[in-house]
Amino acid sequence: METYPKSASDSAPGADNVSEVHNPSVDEGAAGQGACAQVHLPTGAMCIMRHGHEESCEFSPAGQVDILLAERKAAEDW
Ligand SMILES: [Zn+2]
Repeated sequence: METYPKSASDSAPGADNVSEVHNPSVDEGAAGQGACAQVHLPTGAMCIMRHGHEESCEFSPAGQVDILLAERKAAEDW
């Protein structure tokens, strides 16, 4: 007899369709510029690496994000 636990698949309706773009820990402004934009909530630091980068996130202090993001964009020609 096969019985699948219904609660496992019904716990989060529509979860499969949720995009990372709507992750509350992503800065939409920076993400719109092509950055990873993952925010380290405890500190407010943000990853300014290219969106979809394969390395671990590299968090920069919130106060330096704008400058570093501009420099990175200029250097890597996003
Ligand atoms: Zn990242």
